[in-house]
Amino acid sequence: MPYTPDAIRSLCLSTLTLPLATPISDAKVFTGRQRPMTEVVFLIAEVTTAQGHEGIGFSYSKRAGGPAQYAHAKEVAAAAIGEDPSDIAKLYTRLLWAGASVGRSGVATQALAAIDIALWDLKARRAELPLAKLLGAHRDSVRTYDTSGGFLHASLEEVCERADSSLAAGIGGIKIKVGLPESAEDLRRVAAVRTHLGPDVPMMVDANQQWDRRTALRMGRRLEEFDLVWIEEPLDAEDAEGHAALSRALDTPIATGEMLASVGEHVRLIDARACDVLQPDAPRVGGITPFLRLAGLADHAGLDLAPHFAMEIHLHLAAAYPRETWVEHFDWLDPLFEESLETRDGRMLVPSRPGLGITLTEQARAWTTESVTVGSR
Ligand SMILES: [Mg+2]
Repeated sequence: MPYTPDAIRSLCLSTLTLPLATPISDAKVFTGRQRPMTEVVFLIAEVTTAQGHEGIGFSYSKRAGGPAQYAHAKEVAAAAIGEDPSDIAKLYTRLLWAGASVGRSGVATQALAAIDIALWDLKARRAELPLAKLLGAHRDSVRTYDTSGGFLHASLEEVCERADSSLAAGIGGIKIKVGLPESAEDLRRVAAVRTHLGPDVPMMVDANQQWDRRTALRMGRRLEEFDLVWIEEPLDAEDAEGHAALSRALDTPIATGEMLASVGEHVRLIDARACDVLQPDAPRVGGITPFLRLAGLADHAGLDLAPHFAMEIHLHLAAAYPRETWVEHFDWLDPLFEESLETRDGRMLVPSRPGLGITLTEQARAWTTESVTVGSR
């Protein structure tokens, strides 16, 4: 059947606030840089077309930035109305130019991310394929590790209990937070969790950028004995040179990239050979379109990939990466979506549902604080 161009009829943009069950603390709280996190703010984009197709995408912010993402998306969304939703690359460029004055990274492109992700969801749903299949998957499941249970507000006993329940639920690896002002306490927690897990469970640590170069090297050397899959964010997110020196000095792989907000910022890391594992975040770098560009560069540079947060999106993107990847299991977003992701034998299974395979719950609608429809309903 010949292709009949479709047209975007409307874009519904909403912002919702997801409350977290417990206030969350990583090392940034213990070093006094941030307060415990109590909520995550989402920008949701729902696109509908003249032919009746639909797609949903989201972007998010922690602690600040939610209202700015929503405001920017509202301002530029009109540029997409009437355009063929299949031409995602063209649409992305149009939206970028509509907001060009405030740049091509950070809040400006995070606002576009929700729309871009909705367009990819729509395209896959229209093709009746899971997004991973539309992109061209290398695998139908991805190794997964738990993050939610390993934060620093949790006692060692709680961390071990959560690790046990995660492993029993089919999650394959355990990540715990480090980066406390008292390095001896970090080492005590890592040693205790490694002993609890035994030598065969994949384990990672994440310092959330709270070490300086000297501390990172000393801690990295002390951590070698625990056979970690990686040390995450040992240094400031923008210190490509420091990460590169650390990567050369240690046997344990270095992972970073979650805080970066554009392809260009990631290219600095890649060019500096700063890490072994790149951790881009599609909503943070501006959507799936820039993420795919970045994934191509990362693969070309021989890097492993372990996308940050938002497993509902990243499961599909990780399945389509040429090298074996990891996806980060967070249970925080569970109340937002009707569907849940299946974990088995250490892996997360790509759902067979078309698109991303997500639908908002009534609870998510109830947490919506503002909403606007651009175009005609
Ligand atoms: Mg992290």
